[in-house]
Amino acid sequence: MPAETVEPLIGHGEQLGVLRRLAAGGTLPHAFLITGPDGVGKTTFALLAAADLACLEPSPEGVACGQCRSCQLSRAGTHPDILRITPPKEETTIGQMREMRATAGLVPVLSPRRVIIIGRAETLNDQAANAILKVLEDAPPALVLMVLAPSRETVLPTIRSRALQIPLRPVPEGEILRCLERMSVAPQDARVIAAAAGGCPGRAISLARREDLRQVLSDAGDWLRCCAGASLAEALRLAAGLRELGDRARKASGDGEDATDRQGLAWVLDALAGILQAGLWQEDVTGGREAMARWGPCGVARFIAETNEARRLVLSYAQADLQLERMLLRVLSLPVEK
Ligand SMILES: [Zn+2]
Repeated sequence: MPAETVEPLIGHGEQLGVLRRLAAGGTLPHAFLITGPDGVGKTTFALLAAADLACLEPSPEGVACGQCRSCQLSRAGTHPDILRITPPKEETTIGQMREMRATAGLVPVLSPRRVIIIGRAETLNDQAANAILKVLEDAPPALVLMVLAPSRETVLPTIRSRALQIPLRPVPEGEILRCLERMSVAPQDARVIAAAAGGCPGRAISLARREDLRQVLSDAGDWLRCCAGASLAEALRLAAGLRELGDRARKASGDGEDATDRQGLAWVLDALAGILQAGLWQEDVTGGREAMARWGPCGVARFIAETNEARRLVLSYAQADLQLERMLLRVLSLPVEK
């Protein structure tokens, strides 16, 4: 029996149900746009949905049997009718697009359908988007394309207008805590990890598994402590500290060289906002109490808002350095509670 390569899906049962009903009812569209933040479970969702669509004996509700040859190959990640394309860096390569087009035209080898999963579609350039468009325009009946991206807006209009969007929302904290419990994470650690994960199970699992990533989280707490006591003159130094944390998060996140600098930074900003949002500063778990004492509840709320805005800008534009410095200047200008 080959090693299982698909993680269990945490949350998103309703969305998977929609896809299964479409398949069981014979009204499956050719393309899906599966959206949601990093770590929310887009890839796991797509792989499980692909296994359902490829299964030789699915239930009347469209659920994979888990036993047939197709299900075994889906689990092992070696199914000949499921192609996964993930851009190695910031842009999907032309070679990958050629492979996709060649595969799309083929008749399925084993299963009733051929599924192509395209990860990180926000990095597609016009050329790659055109290749997908051509595939969609004369898609054989058995082809299903799953395009993954953080949001609808990050995908080129030619693709998003032809795909049915399935948005994956952050998962309730309780489900993430149960997952961490199954991984035998101590309850106190689990609370901090769940808060920093911001509803994204993939982030929580990486944090539970990787000590270097937990160290980044702990250092982010120290950074917050420095930030709480800092003056406006220290904004540039703090921005540099945040960039360094982002770089370490990128290296420790498990995506290795595939993750980008911007994703690393977004990870740290998410973690800071998540911890403050969850109110963990009240217990001084991560050094937020100082921030709280300095800024008061309104200040903390504004800090969270500034962090979320910086995260959005960092992911949308190239000038991450500038965005961080602007964020720090605004945060450090917050009135201090007397
Ligand atoms: Zn099956």
